[in-house]
Amino acid sequence: MRELQGLTLTRRHLLKGVVGGAAGFTLGASPRVSAAAVQAVSGTGNSAVQRLADDLFLLQLPGEANIVAQTSASGVVLVDGGSAKVSDALMKTIGELPGGGRRADAEVQTLFNTHWHPEQTGLNERIGKAGKTIISHENTRLWLSTDITWSWNGQRFNRLPKIAQPNKTFYTTGQLDSGVKYGYIPDAAHTDGDMYVYFPTQNVLAVGDVVSNHGWPVVDWQTGGWIGGLAGALPRLMTLANDQTRIVPGRGPVMSLAELKTHATMYSTIYDRLSGLLNKGRGPSEALAAKPTKEFDAQMGNPDEFVRRAFESLWAYLSPDA
Ligand SMILES: [Zn+2]
Repeated sequence: MRELQGLTLTRRHLLKGVVGGAAGFTLGASPRVSAAAVQAVSGTGNSAVQRLADDLFLLQLPGEANIVAQTSASGVVLVDGGSAKVSDALMKTIGELPGGGRRADAEVQTLFNTHWHPEQTGLNERIGKAGKTIISHENTRLWLSTDITWSWNGQRFNRLPKIAQPNKTFYTTGQLDSGVKYGYIPDAAHTDGDMYVYFPTQNVLAVGDVVSNHGWPVVDWQTGGWIGGLAGALPRLMTLANDQTRIVPGRGPVMSLAELKTHATMYSTIYDRLSGLLNKGRGPSEALAAKPTKEFDAQMGNPDEFVRRAFESLWAYLSPDA
């Protein structure tokens, strides 16, 4: 699909895309965007379903992270599975997709976990119990098999039962029989288990929470993410894409390569500023006061949490215990 070449979106369109789903995303965009590329599929309740190709869909359930679903005669491939509380709604949405209507076709055969967070792994137990394949980077499996507590807010995450853990892991890259490619994003941008999934026929690249197109991202330094990883990962992802590639971020509307490039420059700038502050012996509160994200805040939102986590992530990486 080449329809997004040259597409430029204003912030208003981006916001409408988040709030209003596929329809908001298309209105006012380039006339080169075909109706088929952004068709909203009806009959899916509150979920926004954006058709990326004949057999490929972006599912945006209210409040949830992005999910990509590929339908085929041999079942459904999912990139991320939403949080556990929306599993029923997600399965219903998948069952109503064109080409996924017959029960056998609507069965999820393969589920990718782009990283360990609950917003991506809530469907794992159901898929694992059904005897299907859950693919992740090995580090993601390790995080899902241990209890984790975020030290910045005390939030605790219990390990998943064995049946819900990824049952097929990899270290570098892999490929499904259908030609779908996947690989590790080794920069430790969001966690140290981040992965992408690339659909070559449709030219769609799903990148999980390494990229956020709906507010500042979480820098989960507790499980390996850091601001330097963000600055490194986005240029790496750019090498996987071309001008026609649709990039599906962890949250928010689909992005173009040009938009990804803008984000890459932004994180590189912020990384340089925060590193400079650290080198001057400043702390997180002083980093916040220095407003290292000021020219990006109108687009990305309140930066306080992001700046704190990003600054702490420098400590995490530079401390001898890291
Ligand atoms: Zn995440």
